Amino acid sequence: SSIPKIVILGAGYGGILAAQRLQKELNYNEADVTLVNRHDYHYFTTHLHMPAAGTDSIKHSRVNISKLIDEFKIDLVKSTVKEIRVRDKKVILEDGTLSFDYLIIALGGEPETFGIPGLAEYAMTIRSINSVRMIRQHIEYQFALYKTDQSRSDRLNFVVGGAGFSGIEFVAELADRIPALCKEYDVDPNLVHIYNVEAAPSALPGFDPELVEYAMDVLSKKGVTFKIGVAIREATPNGVVLATGEEIEAATVVWTGGIRGNRLIEAAGFETMRGRVKVDEYLRAPGYDHIFIIGDNSLVFNPEGRPYPPTAQIAMQQGVLCAKNVVASIRGQEMKKFVFSHKGTVASLGKGEAIASVGGKKYKGWIAAQLKKVVDMRYQFIIGGIPLVLRKGRFL
Ligand code: FAD
Ligand code: NAD
Repeated sequence: SSIPKIVILGAGYGGILAAQRLQKELNYNEADVTLVNRHDYHYFTTHLHMPAAGTDSIKHSRVNISKLIDEFKIDLVKSTVKEIRVRDKKVILEDGTLSFDYLIIALGGEPETFGIPGLAEYAMTIRSINSVRMIRQHIEYQFALYKTDQSRSDRLNFVVGGAGFSGIEFVAELADRIPALCKEYDVDPNLVHIYNVEAAPSALPGFDPELVEYAMDVLSKKGVTFKIGVAIREATPNGVVLATGEEIEAATVVWTGGIRGNRLIEAAGFETMRGRVKVDEYLRAPGYDHIFIIGDNSLVFNPEGRPYPPTAQIAMQQGVLCAKNVVASIRGQEMKKFVFSHKGTVASLGKGEAIASVGGKKYKGWIAAQLKKVVDMRYQFIIGGIPLVLRKGRFL
């Protein structure tokens, strides 16, 4: 047929919002829309620190994509993207090929290891439902092994590399989970050690210092030992080696030291910085009128010329705008420029505790924890309405 083919790669925050907006704006037979995703479910990356530590069930962090889109309007293809051929306007999947007139790339980022030896081999990362299952099972297994296997003395040592928002949120859940695990496996809680190692001079570098201090105080009281201002130099089968030469022995190392763009992007020949593409004001890859890149794979600069950090919040706004721009382009109308509207930052510190900076105001403790729930439920409402909030929401 001669109607334009729109292909969306990835059904994360950016991809789902783009698909839903296209479904809403396009008229009957105005375009064919195909959404490709590795799994038949969408997951809430922003929840993953909880199922990773075992403080929430995995089923609360995912939803079938068929519940979020109208499959009469959008073709859902469950497959893994292997290659993007920009000049041929084709996408190579593990089990087929798709051609496109418009492409929206929303494949999400990948853990960045900065070439630090051993990290890829010996550390686990919080990126997907599958990676989270591994972490959760691994942690429980250390407790199960502790009484019967004396081969390691560092069974109950846990190292989290990086105290950015992911590291802080995970370490908080882990600290919350430990008492229950100790009880279940008859382990003395004093034998458990959680270390959070951060290279920068402060945890949550760049965030409000008062809130950072509050977060470190809450987490220290929960039993977390911080090592701030010292980088992890290497990961080994026995734990990590710090830049100072100090070794922390641990049977569990979780790396939350940063993310980069998806390797498929640079393999496609786009010019990248840490795997991310500096998109134009309409969210297109420079030099390609019909290819949009959003979410963790895009680089957008604020008016002061600094890149916005990759968040779900910006990915969602980009998803909506790029869908509108694709529709405008099909109709020969003018596209709109992307302007990020920052709604604030809310980070969980475990049960009943959080920090938030919203609209120039600071919040901490219980009230911030309620804000976090509101933010999560707002997202569930946006993509799935009240039914999704009722099924997946965490209420008071
Ligand atoms: P993603 O949401 O990662 O989606 C990418 C999708 O593409 C996935 O469905 C994946 O399965 C699919 N995919 C990947 N590769 C392929 C392939 N080759 N073939 C087919 N499909 C593929 N941000 C916030 O704003 N607030 C928060 O509170 C927050 N909390 C976070 C907590 C944690 C623990 C983490 C790790 C991140 C958090 N973030 C948060 C960041 C946020 O999750 C990301 O910025 C956001 O998910 C990016 O959206 P995206 O659409 O680019 O990619
Ligand atoms: P990040 O890049 O924000 O933080 C990584 C941290 O690891 C940094 O503080 C960095 O200094 C540290 N680090 C790097 N190399 C190190 C080394 N060798 N040794 C020790 N520490 C090292 O990554 P993230 O925390 O995964 O966050 C990714 C994105 O997702 C960010 O944009 C963040 O804002 C967003 N996010 C937001 C929330 C929230 O809003 N609640 C939660 C999680 C993530």
